Amino acid sequence: MNWDRVKEKLNILSDAAKYDVSCSSSGSKRPNKDKGLGDTTGMGICHSYTEDGRCISLLKILLTNFCIYDCAYCVSRRSNDIKRVAFTVEEVVDLTINFYRRNYIEGLFLSSGIFKNPDYTMERLVRVAKTLRTEHNFNGYIHLKTIPGASDDLMKEAGLYADRLSVNIEMPSEQALKKLAPEKNTSDIIRPMGYLSQAIVAAKEEKALIRSAPVFAPAGQSTQMVIGATPDTDRDIILKANSLYQDFKLKRVYYSGYVPISNDNRLPGLQSPIPFVREHRLYQADWLMRFYQFSAKEIVTDEQPQLDSDIDPKLGWALRNLHLFPIDINKADYEMILRVPGIGVNSAKKIISARLYERLGWEQLKKIGIAVNRARYFIFCKDARYNYIGLQATTIRQQILAGSESKYQQHLKSQLSLF
Ligand code: SF4
Repeated sequence: MNWDRVKEKLNILSDAAKYDVSCSSSGSKRPNKDKGLGDTTGMGICHSYTEDGRCISLLKILLTNFCIYDCAYCVSRRSNDIKRVAFTVEEVVDLTINFYRRNYIEGLFLSSGIFKNPDYTMERLVRVAKTLRTEHNFNGYIHLKTIPGASDDLMKEAGLYADRLSVNIEMPSEQALKKLAPEKNTSDIIRPMGYLSQAIVAAKEEKALIRSAPVFAPAGQSTQMVIGATPDTDRDIILKANSLYQDFKLKRVYYSGYVPISNDNRLPGLQSPIPFVREHRLYQADWLMRFYQFSAKEIVTDEQPQLDSDIDPKLGWALRNLHLFPIDINKADYEMILRVPGIGVNSAKKIISARLYERLGWEQLKKIGIAVNRARYFIFCKDARYNYIGLQATTIRQQILAGSESKYQQHLKSQLSLF
């Protein structure tokens, strides 16, 4: 293998892969000097989380940045004048094995532009995973992007070798997809999601009955939506994500803020990337749907279709629903405690257990780990030290924001005092 040529491809194809946020890049560039230990190499190593919560490093690359499609928001689009390269299947396999042996990575995240047609490309992606598993006995993590429009047979084979599969939904609405990615169609994206969802459930059921049954994409499927390339509101995005979770039992929806890389007139003329805070609020809203039992329509309403960038969506919901508060922390049910700003899932569980033994006051609640500076506006407990009942939503909002501000200033001060 010509390593200089492979290194050049690695530079180009790991850089092109960075726009996929299904796992985030470490951004670290620390070379191995003086025969030291370890090397982050800076090329294509990113971190992701497995099902059991372990953080793992992955080689994140495209198989190729050639593409027959011309999606306006994508750096690999056909009309973009960039250097094109493609790995062979053997090169990706060798890179993965070599990086794995050197302890740089624990797995592979492989996506691709589309050369020739979806099946032609998908067949190569599957061959990488199959060769790693069957010829090299590779037991590391493999995440394969599936190619919209590829056949069910290839999806089925992919699921036998990959831990996770993902099909990118790309846009929150069909109109947006038609406008920005006219060669793609929603059914080519939705159909494989449906196929994978059924195959994952069927494989789990079979495995429960027959221990020797093959596993199929044991880490499930995920997707990604590009945010800010169209006028779709946060409400459109959250409702779409919610329907994907419900219809296809997705493990994750990732939100990728549009990075202006093209002056295509179908795109908004942005000079800078979508503010990070928009992505962040969307992830918080997503979290509320998955772990806090909120419905999408509670988080984003017809009247307020955009998430408030200054406060998190849980606080936003509580301020719109002040008539439901304050709650008695010693009596309220678990579902309602979960909805209190400043109380997370673990703290809510601890509150339920702790109050079996005693009535809780502020000191116990602090020890449990709740953020009293936020929660105190929405709960009462055995001692009446904080009494904020009766305050208007705007006042609570101002006070909480002022508190966060002064905390931030304190943090800044402590950082400055280090120098
Ligand atoms: S199909 Fe994928 S790689 Fe090709 S232009 Fe569209 S988003 Fe980019």
